[in-house]
Amino acid sequence: MDRNSQDYVRDAAATPGGGGFDYLIVGAGFAGSVLAERLANDMGQRVLVVDKRPHIGGNAYDRYDDAGVLIHPYGPHIFHTNSEDVFDYLSRFTQWRPYQHRVLASVDGQLVPMPINLDTINKLYGLSLTSFEVEKFFESVAEKKDEIKTSEDVVVSKIGRELYNKFFRGYTRKQWALDPSELDSSVTARVPTRTNRDDRYFADKFQAMPLHGYTRMFERMLDHPNIKVMLNTDYREIEEIMPWRRMVYTGPIDAFFDHKYGKLPYRSLRFEHTTIHQEKFQDVGTVNYPNDYAYTRISEFKHITGQTHASTSVVREYPCAEGDPYYPVPRPENAALYKRYEAEAEATPHVVFVGRLATYRYYNMDQVVGQSLAAYRKLRTAHDAQSAT
Ligand code: FAD
Ligand code: UDP
Repeated sequence: MDRNSQDYVRDAAATPGGGGFDYLIVGAGFAGSVLAERLANDMGQRVLVVDKRPHIGGNAYDRYDDAGVLIHPYGPHIFHTNSEDVFDYLSRFTQWRPYQHRVLASVDGQLVPMPINLDTINKLYGLSLTSFEVEKFFESVAEKKDEIKTSEDVVVSKIGRELYNKFFRGYTRKQWALDPSELDSSVTARVPTRTNRDDRYFADKFQAMPLHGYTRMFERMLDHPNIKVMLNTDYREIEEIMPWRRMVYTGPIDAFFDHKYGKLPYRSLRFEHTTIHQEKFQDVGTVNYPNDYAYTRISEFKHITGQTHASTSVVREYPCAEGDPYYPVPRPENAALYKRYEAEAEATPHVVFVGRLATYRYYNMDQVVGQSLAAYRKLRTAHDAQSAT
């Protein structure tokens, strides 16, 4: 992958017709790779994918660490979706290992199931309530709210302030450096509350991990004679010298427009990876620490990947303001600022903006795949309409 720009200019000139690349795709994560695959495979377009990182896969990239354990360098990535279309599409590039993620929260000196369920309440308070009784309990402690606007409202209106303080307030303040009352309801609404004993973190119809990892899946998506991949390259270094007609941009939208309206806030993380020379570190894939430590959670990869190994590797996530942009921050003033950039994007018709950073949406992997497939369908329709005239 150490080819220089001149090699790619030669590649482009050597393509049939010699007209260069039809698409320059910025970012080799889910958004960029889905578009590259569809454009090349389904539409015969010539595509150049550039990423400033030294690898494909974006934040879903995985690799073997020095001990030989498969890890997710950018934090634990668990695939889940309700979309059959998305699952079928990705199944062209990978086999799957069924996996249902389980999370425990460390609260009041105990490890209890998260999302909060019947067992969480019984263990926390030393009770033996039934599902019916725990439902009544939640009703008795819930605070009435006329309108659910914030991440605080959504939790206290369902399970009351005490459980909110134990499970949500500290975690959210650590993760976002904001109080839940300053964040959209959609953030904590990602985590449900249950009155049964279901202890799975996700309830989606499809829950599985790529059998040989995400990177292998991305390699297969990008393995096409019409797709060239250029790593360690910021698109700005080559956009003037490479011949291309249209762009798919999947980086931060504010950076594309040189932050002309000011910086959009993105939350970052510092990942602390550790290998331990024992077979198992903890009982489940992830343990959340809402109230202690500077990190939010510890994830152990072997639970998630199913790998058998004498050692084990874990990652601690320390939220921070500076660093790679990982999370858009859902709150009204940021949505308003994003709208200004979105209007600029709409006025830039030769560039398609897609993905978590380019559309400033707190999207899971499957949502990014769905969004990218929809963006492709639009491109295809426009292309077909143009060819017909
Ligand atoms: P990215 O993966 O961020 O890809 C964008 C790419 O663009 C990057 O590789 C970047 O280097 C490149 N780029 C940016 N600017 C430039 C430039 N100027 N020039 C060249 N290249 C550039 N989702 C789930 O479904 N399940 C999970 O369990 C899950 N866990 C997560 C845990 C963490 C800690 C994080 C941060 C996210 C998690 N996600 C999870 C979300 C998931 O990572 C995203 O939905 C998905 O990876 C987004 O894909 P993308 O292509 O939009 O963006
Ligand atoms: N959250 C919380 N306590 C938890 C788990 C989650 O307060 O034990 C809140 C927190 O604000 C978090 C959000 O719910 O950012 C979404 O959690 P999720 O696990 O979906 O976060 P992600 O995996 O995207 O980091």
